[in-house]
This record gives sequence, structure tokens and C-alpha cells, in this order.
Amino acid sequence: MAQREQIPGEGLRPTVAVVGAGPTGLMAAERLSGAGFGVTIFDGMATPGRKFLMAGRGGLNLTHSETIEQFAGRYGVQATRFRQYLARFSPQDLRNWADGLGAETFVGSSGRVFPKAMKASGLLRGWLARLRGQRVDLRLRHHWRGWSGEHLRFDLADGSEVLVTPKAVVLALGGASWPKLGADGGWISLLRDQGVAVQPLRPSNCGFETDWSAHFQEKAAGRPLKNVLLSFSGRQARGEVMITGYGIEGGPVYALSAAIRDSLASHSPVEVTLDLKPDMSVDALTQRLAARRHGQSLSQFLKKELSLADATYSLLRETAASIPGEPHEIAGLLKALPIRIYRPRPIEQAISSAGGLDFAAMTDELMLRARPGVFACGEMLDWEAPTGGYLLQGCFATAVIAADGVRSWLNGNPS
Ligand SMILES: Cc1cc2nc3c(=O)[nH]c(=O)nc-3n(C[C@H](O)[C@H](O)[C@H](O)COP(=O)(O)OP(=O)(O)OC[C@H]3O[C@@H](n4cnc5c(N)ncnc54)[C@H](O)[C@@H]3O)c2cc1C
Repeated sequence: MAQREQIPGEGLRPTVAVVGAGPTGLMAAERLSGAGFGVTIFDGMATPGRKFLMAGRGGLNLTHSETIEQFAGRYGVQATRFRQYLARFSPQDLRNWADGLGAETFVGSSGRVFPKAMKASGLLRGWLARLRGQRVDLRLRHHWRGWSGEHLRFDLADGSEVLVTPKAVVLALGGASWPKLGADGGWISLLRDQGVAVQPLRPSNCGFETDWSAHFQEKAAGRPLKNVLLSFSGRQARGEVMITGYGIEGGPVYALSAAIRDSLASHSPVEVTLDLKPDMSVDALTQRLAARRHGQSLSQFLKKELSLADATYSLLRETAASIPGEPHEIAGLLKALPIRIYRPRPIEQAISSAGGLDFAAMTDELMLRARPGVFACGEMLDWEAPTGGYLLQGCFATAVIAADGVRSWLNGNPS
């Protein structure tokens, strides 16, 4: 039997339910409670910000220091929209916000922005303390199951059900990568049932599967190819590519993942090329290879004289029909090694997801046209961006748009 849960502030001042205690939901809650609204956050997990904490494991890349024009371009087909969002909550605003929580930031050599502590845990602790200070009520282990008439319906861990009737709602339910951290895309059917258009979720910033032989997997899985240049369909990305048992992962792979994934949707396999020596021309490489001593194995030469990764020779053997004998042919292969890609890794293993709530289903303030008073923000919306701080910046900026939309809406609909 469903109970009706009392939420603080009801009857006294407008009350907002924020569903999802990831960075997006917390930012929306901060903004609204700071403006004097009573806010209750609900989340299905036992602790808030699980993916945010995971993001901090490898160094929390909060945002990027490049120009707004370049920054907006990272959102691809949604660049125009995000240019407007960034004007409302810029990378500098995000840095100021982190500084204000005692998590002073710095710009790394790549232009990426990190808190000095690198991790998310201190920042999250300070943030939750600020929210408590702003009288935000946090209800964990509340799994949102959609609506029952005008009420939000939540399942609790003990099997009971709770109905909540806020004056406005912010949905910040995330995408579907790493579902064990809470966001599993379960909201899609709940919103489609309301007539809201949702684009299918797809893996973004993900690895890809190849057809490596068992022999190669044994020899090379787990070996990095440092400082290589990955190319696909006129796009290039440089960095470390990791060979895995199933295929390839790593920064350059993620950077090109949207284009590779979209091509795979129409035909498979597709071919990417690897330049294993991006700082040397084919001619310079040919000259070096021509100087190989008689009797010195190519494998040793690549490792010792060209400082290429241990796995390089195995990779040549795996990908080329046969290893050519002429120096200029070997040089050509090292500069453009073809790798066949069959499919992306599952969304559960991707860093983020593409697809989500269709922007056409929302007003400019990110309110659902089909459910006035319900706003949405963060990774659950239909946008994607590469790694580099663009994901969290996009989440925070959309949280600000939605929170400000709630304010205007409640001010116009105070009853
Ligand atoms: C390994 C990894 C590293 C990353 N590193 C970075 C990085 O360095 N920089 C960067 O910019 N981005 C990074 N990201 C991406 C970034 O963490 C996400 O884009 C961001 O967390 C999305 O925020 P969100 O609040 O929209 O969603 P989430 O963080 O996924 O939060 C959604 C919340 O909603 C809750 N929820 C979902 N469904 C329900 C329901 N039905 N009922 C109740 N609660 C529900 C979930 O429990 C969760 O707490 C990384 C991601 C991963 C996986």
C-alpha cells in the first residue's frame, strides 16, 4: 500500500523534487535551494554521486580551458545549443564554483582543468555539507518508478512504495554507462509512456572490438601503444592506444568513438589506421629501416632502434597479410597500419552514453512539453561530447538551465 511522504517545505514554500543525486542533480538542488526553494533529492542508490566519485579515480577532469567557441564545438550537432548553455554557466563559472568549495583547480598541460587534489571525494564531501547547510533533504534508496496520476512514485528497498507531490520536478537520471553506479536508463520507458521522445542510448567514449587472433591476444593484450596517431574518416587523435583481448581502448579511440560507432551502424567492419611513429616521415623511417644490419631481426630493430612498443612487431603480423621486405613498404605500414573494427563495446563499459531525451520534447528551459513542471538535465539528454571535461561541464550547465527554468516556472505558477 502506497504511503504519502511528507517533504519539508511543503505548504510553506514551493518544493522541488530533484530525482538523481549525480553531479547534475546536486547542482540543480544547490541552485534551487540557494534561491530559497525547499528541495528534496531522491536517488535509488545508497550513497550519492557514485559515478562522480568514479570519474575522480583517474583524475577528475572538471572542464577545459580552451575558448568557448572551441568548447561549444565539442558538442557536435548540439554545438549551437551548448554555446548558449555555456554562456549561462561557463568553464570559468565551474572553476569558481569548485574553488568556492575549497577544491582549487589548475590547468594541466593538455588544457584540461582538474581540482588540485585530483579526486572527487573531497569536493563531494564539501558539496554535500553545503547542501545540508541549505536545508536540502536527501532521500537515498528511493527508486523512481514514474508517475501515479500527479504523484511521483518511488520504490523503497523494503518493498514499500512512496508517493510524492512536489510543485516542480528536476529529473537528472544520467545515461546508461556503468549501470552498477546507479544510472541504468530505466527512465526511458517511463518517459516514453508519457509520450516523451527519447533517442536510443548508445555507447560514447567507448572501446571497440576487433578480430584479434587468440595468439595475438595472448601476446599483446594489456600492452599500450604510446604516442600514436589514430585516424578514421579524415579525423585524427593522438595519444595512448591500449590493446585489449577484445580490441582497442584509450584516449584517441574515445575521441573518434562517435564517428566510428555511427559508421558501424550502417556497415561493419570499418577500418581505422594507426600511425605508430607520428613524428617521423615515411622517408625518414625508410632511411632508418634501410640501415638495418644484416641478421638483425625486424622485431628487435623496431624496439631498439625505433623505440617502438614491444607489441609492434606482433601487431604488424596480426594486421598485415604478410610483412613486406622493402624498407619503404615497412615504413608505409608503420605510418598507416590498418585495423578492422567490428563493433563498439557494450554501453555498460563506455565512459558515457549518446542519445537520450530529445531536445524537441523540451522547452528552451528544459521543461518537458508533455509534463509541465517537470524539467530534465545532464547526461540523460540527447547530447554527447568527448572526454576532456566536456561531459561534466555539459551536465553542470544543463543543470543550471533547468534549475533557472524551475525558478521562473514556480514564480509564474506559485500555487
Ligand atoms: C569511469 C568514468 C570516468 C569519467 N571521468 C570523467 C571526467 O574525468 N570528466 C568528465 O567530464 N566526465 C567524466 N565521466 C562522465 C561523468 O561522470 C558523467 O557524464 C556524469 O556523472 C553524468 O552526470 P549525471 O548527474 O547526469 O548522471 P549520473 O552521474 O549517472 O547520476 C545519475 C543519478 O541518477 C540516479 N538514478 C538513475 N535512475 C534512477 C531512478 N529510476 N530512481 C532514482 N535514482 C535514479 C543514479 O543512481 C545516479 O545517482 C566519467 C565517467 C566514467 C564512467
